[in-house]
Amino acid sequence: MLKELLGLLNLASPYLLLYTFYPTLALSPFSIVIYSFLIGVYTVFMAYQSSRKLEKSLGYRPQTPYKEAFEAEIRAVGLKETQTSVQYAFNDENIALTIFNTIVIDPTMWRGIENDEQFTKVQQILQSHIIPTIPADKQELLHSIKSILNEPSQRFIFRHELGHVKRNYGVRKLLVIGIQAFLVCITTATIAMSLIEVINGYVLFCASVLFAYLLDVLSTLASNVIFKVPEEYAADLFATKFSTREEIEAAANFFEKYDEVSKNYRLKHTPFWQIYLPDIFSKGYFNGQERARYLRKIAKRKSM
Ligand SMILES: [Zn+2]
Repeated sequence: MLKELLGLLNLASPYLLLYTFYPTLALSPFSIVIYSFLIGVYTVFMAYQSSRKLEKSLGYRPQTPYKEAFEAEIRAVGLKETQTSVQYAFNDENIALTIFNTIVIDPTMWRGIENDEQFTKVQQILQSHIIPTIPADKQELLHSIKSILNEPSQRFIFRHELGHVKRNYGVRKLLVIGIQAFLVCITTATIAMSLIEVINGYVLFCASVLFAYLLDVLSTLASNVIFKVPEEYAADLFATKFSTREEIEAAANFFEKYDEVSKNYRLKHTPFWQIYLPDIFSKGYFNGQERARYLRKIAKRKSM
């Protein structure tokens, strides 16, 4: 929380400077709109930079015959292999994730790639440098996830990520981040403006930063439900289109078990106020049981 507050203070400090030297200019509605817009653009830029940096830092790609196997999957869903790249890297507890057009697969959990030099190289680096530095309960979680993962559910998960690439999730997410920052800023500033006659400017400034923080938390929960949940659902639907009944059922079983094996870990590491919050708010996707339920429904229809 402290980090976020400091970040907000940083974003708001140019406004404080403006207020100190040109109070009338700072308080005009026009300035507030422009300032909020700039905050939105800056937030998008920062998010873009950090994603790109992450994307560029990766350097381990699948080799033959796995390269061809991934490319065949990419072509099968109607994407070009030049549009999408697959890389190996540590994803924390995500089995796979998408950064713009790059799908990152985690060798600590992914199964079935034994003879790829690049894959084993990343695996070795992780085993000797990353895994020993993470807490024991997290290590246990990764181990449990690996033990329930199998190749049919992996194929489904890979197609789910391809769904994100196809739908330009990365770019749309940036847009949502920008709109969110703009709205938080303009709402906070408008409310603060209406109180400027009553409360001392500098006190109001500090209160506004706190208020913006709260608004940021709330709008993140809202954007999870409005934007992320439908996106995750759409990516699942996309994956079901190109998966067999067996693969969809395997994925349903996996998501259900994932909830079970991660339950204790999540209980311990979720902030107290989020424990009773449904996953659609706190994480932006349906929980494993829900996901399994709708996937099984779709799988049933596949056989008919
Ligand atoms: Zn997803």
